[in-house]
Amino acid sequence: MTKFEEVKDGVIFPVGGPNPFGQYFIGQSYLNPLVVEQDINVGVGNVTFEPRTRNNWHIHHSGYQILLATGGEGWYQEEGKPAQTLKAGDVILTRDGVKHWHGAKKDSWFEHIAITAGQAEWLEPVTDEWYDAL
Ligand code: MN
Repeated sequence: MTKFEEVKDGVIFPVGGPNPFGQYFIGQSYLNPLVVEQDINVGVGNVTFEPRTRNNWHIHHSGYQILLATGGEGWYQEEGKPAQTLKAGDVILTRDGVKHWHGAKKDSWFEHIAITAGQAEWLEPVTDEWYDAL
């Protein structure tokens, strides 16, 4: 299990600041934008989740998302499928239009690089009831 002290400065990349998309998350997360350029059609960011922190259900439209897990332990779940554990070295591809969420486990920080194209549509939160049942 990865403790905050081990990852607070980033497992690989710096953690960055409080996530400006925090309104679409439950719990505290951090974002370090690594590549954000008007003329480049993907954004790359390092996202760090405190224990129990997760983003709302969401969909990447007209694009996709690739998650590269870099530290701690987390969850990834697509609608209608079981949640899967993510650990450093795991790679997730979310295709256009697939409803899903990602975040940390109850007792661990989690960090991933997110490579994202298109527009995110933010939906309902992942409730405590849902999360605690995992
Ligand atoms: Mn996503």
